[in-house]
Amino acid sequence: MDRRSILKKGLTATAAVGAAALSAPALSQGRQEWRMVTTWPKNFPGLGVGAENLAKRITTMSGGRLSVKVFSAGELVPPLQALDAVINGSAEMSHGAAYYWQNKNVGLSFFTGVPYGMTSREHAAWVRFLGGQQIWDEIYDQFGVQGFLSGDTGTQAGGWFRKEIKTVADLKGLRFRTPGLGGQVWAKLGASVTNLAAGEIFQALQAGTLDAAEFVGPYNDLALGFYQIAKNYYMPSFIEPGLATEAVVSKSKFRALPADLQEIVRSACQAEYDNVASDMYANDPRALQTLVDKHGVKVLRFSDEILKAGAEASAEVLAGVRSSDNALAKKTAESFVAALTLLRTRADITDSPYLVAREKFFKFK
Ligand code: CA
Repeated sequence: MDRRSILKKGLTATAAVGAAALSAPALSQGRQEWRMVTTWPKNFPGLGVGAENLAKRITTMSGGRLSVKVFSAGELVPPLQALDAVINGSAEMSHGAAYYWQNKNVGLSFFTGVPYGMTSREHAAWVRFLGGQQIWDEIYDQFGVQGFLSGDTGTQAGGWFRKEIKTVADLKGLRFRTPGLGGQVWAKLGASVTNLAAGEIFQALQAGTLDAAEFVGPYNDLALGFYQIAKNYYMPSFIEPGLATEAVVSKSKFRALPADLQEIVRSACQAEYDNVASDMYANDPRALQTLVDKHGVKVLRFSDEILKAGAEASAEVLAGVRSSDNALAKKTAESFVAALTLLRTRADITDSPYLVAREKFFKFK
């Protein structure tokens, strides 16, 4: 799907709100239908398709006892109101990124990704085996919902810039789109930061209200057409080293399911997490080739000066959460730091040296 049709779907979606809101979930003879609202444009590569696949998995695995109907961004509610729709009961399920809701609790950002934080594998290890999920449940408990990991982008791209940036001074006043804690880091570096949903970024770049934007990586960014406006593509991101998507369910609706259907929802999320991560990993490098070969995109790296200042700003943002009076956010940050301290030993001893050695010495014969 091209960018035009993605945007068109987003724009015309508002008209459908009235009609869609009237249809309540069907309930008959042990069969029920859940509405899943998402933050993604329809047919959006990787992440949006992941939401659609998750719905299909649950429907198929349950033999239709629990069918899930997907509403892409704007079809039932605007993209950045997806979680509220589950909280207020106008949907049973949502699919998006937990850091979109950091205004509800900044601790939620950690379940998407943290600047200079964990890679995808490290993040899943923390959430599943080092205490993350329990704290995530505690935060979402307050809102009557529950979150599951449902996808991961891998290490993201740093973003699209109209002009090359070389020094921290070049970032002063730069109007840049990026959400979450990463947005706070860029603001510390001098940028003027805003968050926009996927379908709104291209227009803002085109209209000149943004100087630069990051969204995900080559696979998603190619589909959104940013290369048409900005040719300087900085890689990798230092604020989103791994970025998880979430599926959120209404806790009361989830608890009311029989045990097998609960397990189906859980397992489908886990399966789709894995599928999305592989999809992104396989298709990002392909899309990057297209961006470079067909569209003349210039791939650049942030300078050490920017990377170093970004690391300092990231440490300050993390320290800010650790010293805040928000007890659950603080608990999240402490758990995250303890897990990363452990996982870094693996990165230092195993993963990084292996990748360095392979890139340095190994060639196909
Ligand atoms: Ca991003």
